[in-house]
Amino acid sequence: MKKITAAPEAPRDCPLCPRLVAYREAVQAKEPTWFNGAVPSFGKDNAELLIVGLAPGVTGANRTGRPFTGDWAGDLLYATLDKFGFSEGTFAADPNDGLKLTGAMITNAVRCVPPENKPVGAEINQCRPFLEARIASLPKLKVILCLGKISHDSTLRALGLKVAQYPFGHGTKYEVAANGKPVTLLSSYHCSRYNTNTGRLTPEMFEAVFAEARKAVA
Ligand code: SF4
Repeated sequence: MKKITAAPEAPRDCPLCPRLVAYREAVQAKEPTWFNGAVPSFGKDNAELLIVGLAPGVTGANRTGRPFTGDWAGDLLYATLDKFGFSEGTFAADPNDGLKLTGAMITNAVRCVPPENKPVGAEINQCRPFLEARIASLPKLKVILCLGKISHDSTLRALGLKVAQYPFGHGTKYEVAANGKPVTLLSSYHCSRYNTNTGRLTPEMFEAVFAEARKAVA
């Protein structure tokens, strides 16, 4: 694990990525009632499972201010969290729905919405200190579940590990260390609309990864 140089949460108006700041501001000008900022993680610091997504979707988390809330990717993620006992309450795609995560936290590798859901390498690197700090802030952490290759690779780098030694794949599982303790690193294809519409990721495939996560925190 690298030296922690940031807080676990970025300021909402984080200025560090000029392209993302410009995009945020352009969306803000069109949609002033949306959140339009660095989206904070969702969950409590006693989480044993940390889910690392890619970045806020423009009409999802960037609009509502809660990760995976307000667009398709969240529908599958929150239904699966519920099925495996990682949430309480009813997900209604609204940060005021009263949903609570139990033993889990959701964050993103990149905290601000990127154009076309595609952050560039410099932005992923710039945001990584927040991910490092987020991981370091979870004393009970046992499992990290990465959604997609960008998340997987950035998490490996946050843990001070070499990407080439831990290749990404759907359902990959590695035993690594975080915060000086053993942690299971699971990865899945991202639960995006594209991946589910094309059949690259089915609900059954997604649930199989969560079944592993449930086993690893038990
Ligand atoms: S993506 Fe991360 S580092 Fe870049 S502006 Fe947003 S919060 Fe800051």
